[in-house]
Amino acid sequence: MQDDLVRGNRRPGDVLHSRPAAVLWDMDGTLVDSEKVWTVSLQDTAAWLGGELSAAAREDMVGSNMARTLRIMFDDLGLERDPARVAAAEQWMTARTGELFAAGLEWRPGALEALRVVRAAGWPTALVTNTLRSLTEMALEGIGREHFTVTVCGDEVPRGKPDPDPYLRAAELLGVAVEDCLAVEDSPTGSLAAERAGAAVLVVPCEVPVPLGPGRVHRDSLVGLTADEVHGAHVQARSDRAA
Ligand SMILES: [Mg+2]
Repeated sequence: MQDDLVRGNRRPGDVLHSRPAAVLWDMDGTLVDSEKVWTVSLQDTAAWLGGELSAAAREDMVGSNMARTLRIMFDDLGLERDPARVAAAEQWMTARTGELFAAGLEWRPGALEALRVVRAAGWPTALVTNTLRSLTEMALEGIGREHFTVTVCGDEVPRGKPDPDPYLRAAELLGVAVEDCLAVEDSPTGSLAAERAGAAVLVVPCEVPVPLGPGRVHRDSLVGLTADEVHGAHVQARSDRAA
């Protein structure tokens, strides 16, 4: 198996020996500790709208896309979803998040080393995020664009996570089958999106617990992740799903 890993040999149809064709990274909560930043921005936006966000609504928003996030917020605050007001809230929240992102983001434990390990092992990679391109570009200043072959943002696909679109788009851009990819996710919403697309998932929870499931391999953090483990997680997730 080690030889397969080193040479990148594929044995078609052989789930037990298949190495991922690409590694697809979620950003918020997986690579950077930005869910904490989003919490500040979401609470500030709720205050701007004249209300206070409940803890349950905030939890439901983790890993979610902008449209769904705003839907949850307006419902939580008991506000009518007037399109103009929703659009104004999105604009305000994007600007506020931009201010906070510009102040710098913290890495999740082991994330930078894990990105380097995956790159050094020769896997193509994608950043697959629900966050808007304008904000992602700010985050990439700190994370480093060199870690990713391609990047896909929430405003570049018809529907964001938990729909599969961002993952399907990433695989398409990389020219690989999404079923052969390993996604790395921290949230229930993101894990569901990867799963719906057909990818195996390495789950590294951050703010909220993520349910177990076939096709999901859990790890406490990215600290000490090796190329062998990336390969092993892919093999295990695929064989669990096939069982
Ligand atoms: Mg996330």
